[in-house]
Amino acid sequence: MNPDLAIARAATLRPIGEIAERAGIPDEALHPYGKHIAKVDGSWLRSLEDRPRGKLILVTAISPTPAGEGKTTTTVGLGDALNRIGRKTMICLREPSLGPCFGQKGGATGGGHAQVLPMEQINLHFTGDFHAIGAANNLLAAMLDNHVYWGNRLDVDPRRVAIRRVLDMNDRALRSTVAGLGGPANGFPREDGFDITVASEVMAVFCLARDLADMEARLGRIVVAQTRDKRPVTADDLKASGAMSVLLKDAIQPNLVQTIEGSPALVHGGPFANIAHGCNSVVATQAGLRLADYVVTEAGFGADLGAEKFLDIKCRQAGLTPSACVVVATVRALKMHGGTARADLSRGDADALERGFVNLERHVANMRSYGLPVVVAVNHFVTDTEAEHRRLAELCRDRLGVEAVPCRHWAEGGAGAVDLAERVVALTEKPSEFRTLYPDDMPLADKMRRIATRIYGAETVVIEGSAASRLKEIEAAGYGRLPVCMAKTQYSFSTDPQAMGAPSGHEIPVREVRLAAGAGFVVAICGQIMTMPGLPRVPAAEGIHLDEDGLIQGLS
Ligand code: ADP
Ligand code: MG
Repeated sequence: MNPDLAIARAATLRPIGEIAERAGIPDEALHPYGKHIAKVDGSWLRSLEDRPRGKLILVTAISPTPAGEGKTTTTVGLGDALNRIGRKTMICLREPSLGPCFGQKGGATGGGHAQVLPMEQINLHFTGDFHAIGAANNLLAAMLDNHVYWGNRLDVDPRRVAIRRVLDMNDRALRSTVAGLGGPANGFPREDGFDITVASEVMAVFCLARDLADMEARLGRIVVAQTRDKRPVTADDLKASGAMSVLLKDAIQPNLVQTIEGSPALVHGGPFANIAHGCNSVVATQAGLRLADYVVTEAGFGADLGAEKFLDIKCRQAGLTPSACVVVATVRALKMHGGTARADLSRGDADALERGFVNLERHVANMRSYGLPVVVAVNHFVTDTEAEHRRLAELCRDRLGVEAVPCRHWAEGGAGAVDLAERVVALTEKPSEFRTLYPDDMPLADKMRRIATRIYGAETVVIEGSAASRLKEIEAAGYGRLPVCMAKTQYSFSTDPQAMGAPSGHEIPVREVRLAAGAGFVVAICGQIMTMPGLPRVPAAEGIHLDEDGLIQGLS
C-alpha cells in the first residue's frame, strides 16, 4: 500500500465535534458531513467579526522540481508543532482537485505523519464544493447560450464568448469543442471548450469573496462575452448571479477536518496558481484568524507565483497582514536546481546543492522585500546527508543571514517540527512590516514589469500587440486599479521551464491578457498555460481500486 495511505488509515480519527471544541466552535455552529468532516456555519462565523485576529503565517517554497518540496506536508507539520508547544493554531489548506488525483501528482492532503484526514474523502468528493462550483459555472454558461437562442437581446457576439464549461477532471479531449451542433433546435454552433473546475473564474471568486453577499456581487461582475460592438456582457446582464449563489450557499461555508495529531484544519477552495491566485478561501483564512492565535496556510507553486499572488492579490483584497513567511526547501530539489539528474538525487552532493542554492536565495530575498520575516524549513528526506544539511545551513547563514531549520515532520509528525514552530513564534513577536509589491494606482503594464523585474529577476516585459491593446481597453473600462495575476510556468523564474536555478536578465513575454472582473484581477498570460490538463501515459487512475473489504487502494 502507498505509505501515506497506510499511515492515514492507521490513525485514529476523533469525532469532528471534539476537534471543533478544541478550535472553539460550538456544536450548533457545525453542519456535520459524516463523523469526521463538518462545515462551519457562515452566520456563526460572521458573529465573530469583532474578535481580534491571530497571526498569519505563510508557507511557500522554492521553484518546484519533480523531486517534490512538501509545502502541504510542512504546513500540516508546522500546525501540529505549534499546537504541541501550546500555541492555538488553525491550519488552512486548499481542497484537492480530482484531476491530479487520477493523473500524476496525486492528492493534496500532506504526507507521512503530517496529513489531514480523512484523506480519501478530502481527496475525492469531500463535501461537494467543487461539484457545486462546477454547477454554478455551468449554469452561467448554459444561461448565456440560452440567451442567444431566445433572440439575443444583449447582442452577444458568439465569436467572443469568454465563459467555458468546466468539469473537475483532466480531459484533454474536451479542450476544444464545437457547441450547438444539430440544427436550429440546438442553438447556434460556435467554437467552445472545457476547462478544469479549478481554473474557472467562479472558483477564484469563491476563494476571494468575503461572504455570501460579496460572492454574489463578484459573480455578477464576471464578464462572460462581448457584444458585437465589443462591450462586456456580464453574469448580471444575464441575471445569473442569484441562482449561482444559491448553488454555492452551502459550499461557501468552510470545511473543518483534523490532522493525524488532532489539530483542526480548514480545507476550503482550490484555485489554480497560474491562471488564478492559488490559495484557500478568504472565508476560511478569516475564520481561522478569529478562532486561533496562529493560522498556517500554504500558497501554491513556488514563492514567485504562489506567495506573490497570496500577498499581492489575496492579502491586498482581504486586508490581511501576514506575520511571517516559511520558505520550504529540500536538499534534493536544490540539487536538481544545481544540475543533478533525478536518478542521482539519492547520492550526497553538497556542491550541486550549493550551485542550486541560488534558487532559494532569490525566493528568500523576494519574501523579505515584502517586509516579512523569513525562515527556511528544510524538509528532511531519508536520503539526505549530514554534509549536505551542514552546507545548506552555512549558506543560509552566510549568504542570507537566515536560519535554516531542519524538519522531520514527515517521519515524526509535529514533534519533528518543534524547532521550526519555536522559530516561527519568535519571528512573529515583532510587529509585521508587510507591504505589497505595488500600489493599486500603478498602471497595469507597470505592475507586470515590477513583478517581472523585482520577483523574476527579468530585464523586461514585452507586451505583444493584441495584449497591449486589450490592456488599454481594460484600463479605459475602469479596471486599471486591479492587481495582476501572472500565468507563467512554475518551474522557473523565466518562461522556460527548463531554466532552473536563478536565471536573470531574461524577457517575460505577455501574449494575452484577460480580465477577471469578478475575481478582481487581470491575468497576464506568459507562455503556454493549460486550463484543461491531460492525463499522463499511465494515469494514477489505473492503479486505484477497491479491495475485497471495500477499501480504496492506490490513492496517494
Ligand atoms: P507540495 O504541497 O509542495 O506540492 P506535498 O506536501 O503535497 O508537496 O508533498 C508531495 C509529496 O512528497 C507527498 O506525497 C509527500 O508524502 C511527499 N513528501 C513530502 N515530504 C517528504 C519527506 N520529507 N520525505 C518523503 N516524502 C515526502
Ligand atoms: Mg501542496
